[in-house]
Amino acid sequence: MIPGPTNVPERVLAAMCRPMIGHRSEDFHNLFKGIVEKAKLLFRTSGDVVLLTSSGTGGVEASVQNLIKRGDKAIVPIYGEFCSRAADAIERVGGEVFRVEVRLGSVPRVEELRKAFEEAGEVKLLFIVYNETSTGVAFRRIREASKLASKHGAYFVVDAISNFAGDELEFDSMGMDLCVAASQKCLAAPPGVSLIALSKRVREYLEGERPTTLYFDLIRHLKYEEKHETPFTPSVPIFQALDVALELALEEGLERRWERHRRCSNAFYSAFEAMGLTPFADEDARSTTTIAVRYPEGVDDEVFRSKVEERGVLIAGGFGGLKGKVFRVGCMGIVNKEMVLKTVDAIAEAMKDFGVEVDKEAALEAVESEC
Ligand code: PLP
Repeated sequence: MIPGPTNVPERVLAAMCRPMIGHRSEDFHNLFKGIVEKAKLLFRTSGDVVLLTSSGTGGVEASVQNLIKRGDKAIVPIYGEFCSRAADAIERVGGEVFRVEVRLGSVPRVEELRKAFEEAGEVKLLFIVYNETSTGVAFRRIREASKLASKHGAYFVVDAISNFAGDELEFDSMGMDLCVAASQKCLAAPPGVSLIALSKRVREYLEGERPTTLYFDLIRHLKYEEKHETPFTPSVPIFQALDVALELALEEGLERRWERHRRCSNAFYSAFEAMGLTPFADEDARSTTTIAVRYPEGVDDEVFRSKVEERGVLIAGGFGGLKGKVFRVGCMGIVNKEMVLKTVDAIAEAMKDFGVEVDKEAALEAVESEC
């Protein structure tokens, strides 16, 4: 129950044990074609999707290295570790970052972004982390942010690594220019592939460019995609597994999958509140895929999580400035009511080990009524 990698269904795992195939073979062409088609459906885009053999960070670097040139300005609201990393990635290629800092646990208001655009002058891109996994918040004003970026002629880049296929996301209608996802979170595939959707506008811009990265040159990837190949050797077993994971997500249906994540996360929030614990995120910014909860006084992070693990459930701690202050539960992928019940039970028992008085029955009842 960590926020990725998440539990992988048997059918997806089994796909990794198939015999190896050459990445220039007919078998691979068929596999790759299917993956791209399915990924487009999950992004809800009629544009392009690129598949990279890398974790999510590779996808973020690819977006930045293709779009940002020395001296370009970017606005990056900062509400957690992954926002800071994106800003860092932009600065490493010589971009000038305008950080919009907000209190951890909250997300910026559109007004704050508008002000940043007015102050920054000509801005190349607005980078938004849709679901900030370090604090458990989701930025819900995607459509407004997109309109704002477009009004100022900036590209709208979204990191949806920890909520793609688990939360509402419609690339075309939400007006995104580039969106990065990863295999190991709500898609419930193994780690190792990042998926990038690109708008027509971004593609046209990139056609004339020569990015400083070879491995992540997105146009080079798109040229190879025309013959259903990747420019470099892909991680074939992960691609095979991803293909099945995408198929399972489409079989379930996107709306139903989003709704299941929403139901399970509502159950988690209600259960933790019934236990007397406090979610870290402001109520109007709560993520439906990552639940961060404040530790009560006197609970040691590492000991607590080992006590939860003894009961068969793996959860995550906080990191960056939140280390030792929160624990985080992934509500991703194949999450279901039984998993929520087991997690809530283990957390309640571990709290009791620390002498924290929690009403476990009320918490489990909350799960029953929400899920
Ligand atoms: N962005 C977000 C929002 C994430 O949650 C993560 C990983 O948890 C990353 C980026 C980095 O992804 P990876 O660890 O796959 O490189």
